[in-house]
Amino acid sequence: MSAALVLFRRDLRLSDNPALAAACIAHECILPVYIYASEENTPWPAGAASRWWLHHSLASLQAELLRQQGHLHLRKGDILQTLRDLIKHSGATAVYWNRLYEPAAIARDTGIKAALREQGIEVHSHNAALWSEPWQIANQQDEPYRVFTPYWRNLRSRLGTFPPPATYSAPRWIELPDCLPLPALNLLPGIRWDGGLAETWRPGEGGAREMLEVFCDDAIGDYTVARDLPARHGTSRLSPHLHFGEISPRQIHLELLNRSQRLDTSQRPDIEPYLRQLGWREFAHHLLYHFPNTPNENFNPRFDSSIWQAPDEALLTRWQQGRTGIPLVDAGMRELWHTGWMHNRVRMIVASFLTKNLRQHWHHGARWFWDTLVDADLANNTLGWQWVAGCGADAAPYFRIFNPVAQAKRFDPKGVYLKRWLPELAHLPLDILQEPWRDSSRLTHGGYPSPITDLAKSRKDALAANRGPKGQ
Ligand SMILES: Cc1cc2nc3c(=O)[nH]c(=O)nc-3n(C[C@H](O)[C@H](O)[C@H](O)COP(=O)(O)OP(=O)(O)OC[C@H]3O[C@@H](n4cnc5c(N)ncnc54)[C@H](O)[C@@H]3O)c2cc1C
Repeated sequence: MSAALVLFRRDLRLSDNPALAAACIAHECILPVYIYASEENTPWPAGAASRWWLHHSLASLQAELLRQQGHLHLRKGDILQTLRDLIKHSGATAVYWNRLYEPAAIARDTGIKAALREQGIEVHSHNAALWSEPWQIANQQDEPYRVFTPYWRNLRSRLGTFPPPATYSAPRWIELPDCLPLPALNLLPGIRWDGGLAETWRPGEGGAREMLEVFCDDAIGDYTVARDLPARHGTSRLSPHLHFGEISPRQIHLELLNRSQRLDTSQRPDIEPYLRQLGWREFAHHLLYHFPNTPNENFNPRFDSSIWQAPDEALLTRWQQGRTGIPLVDAGMRELWHTGWMHNRVRMIVASFLTKNLRQHWHHGARWFWDTLVDADLANNTLGWQWVAGCGADAAPYFRIFNPVAQAKRFDPKGVYLKRWLPELAHLPLDILQEPWRDSSRLTHGGYPSPITDLAKSRKDALAANRGPKGQ
């Protein structure tokens, strides 16, 4: 009977898993494998919050497989070496995986593919993460897009043409000795700071499905408005599930369509704004694929000698800890620390504050997000930071500097979000809650700090710096 190995990476699900489905069609026996090799060939090894998520997502995948009498074979170390060892012991003649799109992963996978094929092993790779491969969409000059709207128009017009979710029928699962127990991967933190993450999330395919159902039941109808209100559960919160491949954009799209069709035309929610956000995710992958240096370099070199000053550890620490004295910034940074996630609007505000008011390089913010976000994703994080900093593709112009006070008044008009994350200020009247420096006598309460910078002056300074010789 022919045997194949299915290598799980960031496709931690059994449904709509094209690599698994293809392996099950061509082979009777399957060995499901996960090899933890975070340090291998990557300048971006998984951060602490991502490792926490990975641990629980693997536990969930193990449990799902076990329900079908399958065993996820866990290993650690050099991927090629481990694959060779597993091939030898399982008698597999083929390896299947779903593609990753980070530059280091592409280089590594290309090498592994070549080495295994040389050894006579078949290697098949599939797309499980995106609607469309980053190289399949090009502009009229046959070049990669640099601007979102025409990119999205092109991709949107193809959405109906993609294959339906992949299905598989349960194979005979292979079980081998020498499988590591999950704790041996050492993914959980030594000092347990992860209580807030555990309260907030249920990693795994089941958790992803549940999150999608809650979103479809409660929030999709009001998404256009509620997606900007950080106090509301108005967005899908699927980002970590998408990052780890516990759900696919195709599955989400199909569920939205199915639900819509069950309703009267008059009651159908407008799903376009939500699909468009998934389009930004695809665009981020398109950019990372075609411009692989962008995690480290400005997309737009005009900003290379830009407004950023030398790293200031004191400023960075206060920003990271949510102690800048600017309530909306601090609320966001504390939400991030506690839950591993931050609302998109607040991400833009804290990033603008760091890169423009504090004039710290976006790299410092991107690294902190990388370590603390459960949805840390090289493509999305790079796009987000470069967009806010003003140096990215189709970015916010340099003169757009979010005013955190005005943003709080507009998007958190009752101060619910501020009070949730800044309990030491919760007793203050709304106007003082939004600008506590206006009444310094109250600030001794709870030891909330005075502002790290004057918002108006730092804004003016940032604009002046950007209008320097290179900023014309
Ligand atoms: C500075 C900064 C850093 C960011 N870093 C990340 C990151 O590391 N990982 C990450 O997944 N997102 C990142 N984003 C994008 C966005 O903030 C999150 O995807 C979103 O907040 C996730 O919440 P949600 O799932 O409820 O989103 P929803 O509004 O429900 O959107 C659905 C999905 O669309 C995608 N999406 C939405 N907005 C964007 C966007 N602007 N860019 C790319 N994809 C998007 C996400 O996959 C998201 O899950 C960043 C944004 C900024 C401004």
